[in-house]
Amino acid sequence: MDNITIKLNGRAVSVPAGSTILEAARSAAIDIPTLCYMKGLNEIGACRICVVEVKGAKSLITACNYPVSPNMEVFTRTPRVLEARKKTLQLLLSNHNCDCLSCNRNGTCELQALCRQYGVDAVDRYAGAKTPSQPDETAPHMIRDNSKCILCHRCVAVCTQVQSIGAIGANGRGFNTNVSSPFKLGLGTTNCCHCGQCIAVCPTGALTEKSQIDQVFDAINDPGKVVLVQTAPAVRASLGEAFGLPIGTDVQGKLAAALRRLGFDRVFDTSFGADLNVMEAAAELLARLHDGGKLPVISACCPSWVKFCEHFYPEMTEHLSTCKSPQQMTGAVAKSCWAEKVGIDPQRIVMVSIMPCTAKKFEIHRPDEAANGMPDVDYALTTRELARMIRRAGIRFCDLAGEAYDTPIRAGTGAGMLFGAAGGIAEATLRMAAYTLTGQPAPAADFSQVRGLDGVRQATYTLGEQQLKVAVASGLGSARALMEQVKSGKADYQFIEIMGCPGGCVNGGGQPQVPYTIRNFTDVREARTAVLYAIDKGNPLRNSYENPDVKALYKNYLSKPGSYRAHSLLHTTYIKRRRNEY
Ligand code: SF4
Ligand code: SF4
Ligand code: SF4
Repeated sequence: MDNITIKLNGRAVSVPAGSTILEAARSAAIDIPTLCYMKGLNEIGACRICVVEVKGAKSLITACNYPVSPNMEVFTRTPRVLEARKKTLQLLLSNHNCDCLSCNRNGTCELQALCRQYGVDAVDRYAGAKTPSQPDETAPHMIRDNSKCILCHRCVAVCTQVQSIGAIGANGRGFNTNVSSPFKLGLGTTNCCHCGQCIAVCPTGALTEKSQIDQVFDAINDPGKVVLVQTAPAVRASLGEAFGLPIGTDVQGKLAAALRRLGFDRVFDTSFGADLNVMEAAAELLARLHDGGKLPVISACCPSWVKFCEHFYPEMTEHLSTCKSPQQMTGAVAKSCWAEKVGIDPQRIVMVSIMPCTAKKFEIHRPDEAANGMPDVDYALTTRELARMIRRAGIRFCDLAGEAYDTPIRAGTGAGMLFGAAGGIAEATLRMAAYTLTGQPAPAADFSQVRGLDGVRQATYTLGEQQLKVAVASGLGSARALMEQVKSGKADYQFIEIMGCPGGCVNGGGQPQVPYTIRNFTDVREARTAVLYAIDKGNPLRNSYENPDVKALYKNYLSKPGSYRAHSLLHTTYIKRRRNEY
């Protein structure tokens, strides 16, 4: 591609034709602020915080969506530009509740950071009427508080274009414009799939998870309770970001240490549940292959994908694997087999999970997720909520030395760890299927075709005498594209993995928020995924069937995958949802 040379603040800068002024500035190590801009997704130039002066143009120009042209002269920090940005911020604050002290996003709010940067020292420069709003608390996983919304439309773009759902959009006109669900419905009465991707992209505190931190602290402080905690693979790849560590830092050991200091009675690892899921799912797949059951088998570890399937493809729910997610399996085992082993009344157990996910808050209340007559999991907290708990408890996270998880539900194999990355469930299941079909462990590098961040990937493998065609999709828009292929008969896969968040759980809706000044130029998913691949590679046990705790569980309690007891504890059912069934 040809390059174009422009002058930026008086210095020559050469960039590929088609670049925007924003990209040109970035390549010259100059930051231009953005709020509404999401590369390739929301390039609407609506917030006008990215304005710059272009020689010859009367008005200020939005840098995020204006392409460079030969000999263009751009100025990014003239007094006129700086004053315009400050005024934009003051106008945004004029319709904002400015309740920063009690806001979850205090310290991570992109609006707050810009106000600091541009010297906005009074919140009431343009005081006047504010758009009326009431928080929407109807959804199980999140709260929308439009008194903090700046109408950037990032959430709408991700829900509509990436997730293909459109549970939210602009309503009202002029001063009454607001982002909400159609027909003034509460989000909890729409086909929202609880993925939390809207929260992950919101620059302010307008969207937050429904927090259960206080209930968990209460349980920890209750001497009558035995409070267990489990952590999903992807949490160890991101929690460090909340404490200033670089994106892509593995904090597995510090995570276990912090949880112990918070007062949890046992620190368990959800990757144990992931290995257990692989054992059950591989048995299910091979049984359906040999006995003529519904194919393809589609993974059901991701609750936002499950809800999406139930809403949009109810006729396909019979294809879903009946295996519970690793979170639910871990909870069910802890409240039955583990409780029996250590002699604790399961009624005293409170199971808390730390997840990269907001949909897990929905999953724990689903029907048929209560194997022992009580919920398998009592509270599902996000990575962000855990970071807040650690801070509230005064724990110096970065200074902690690493500790191990507790037996017998401790860190799983490399295969279990892969569940946090897109393609990981497929890869782990393939390793298991290969062993079952050939009697030999598969070389770990064999299934790398299912790795990657593309929306949909596919691969065909021959394992013994069995040919297996596999597809992987992440992001619900990609899931829709794949399901349309399957429905139309254009695809003949035997196994499909679908994760609701683009890139899988490492990019979950409950992960630490990364400002778009970084996300527009760095793919955080790659760095977090690399952590899990490194843990897999460094683990001497890379196959789920090698997990000693899982082997002991089958030997002492469950007999074998797919047994009657395994089914009653570890499998679930689905709902064919009608339009009004949420
Ligand atoms: S949680 Fe997901 S589906 Fe629901 S509104 Fe947000 S982006 Fe849309
Ligand atoms: S809720 Fe957040 S992401 Fe959505 S429009 Fe408002 S500020 Fe933007
Ligand atoms: S991909 Fe992972 S984080 Fe995202 S909704 Fe599914 S389970 Fe949750």
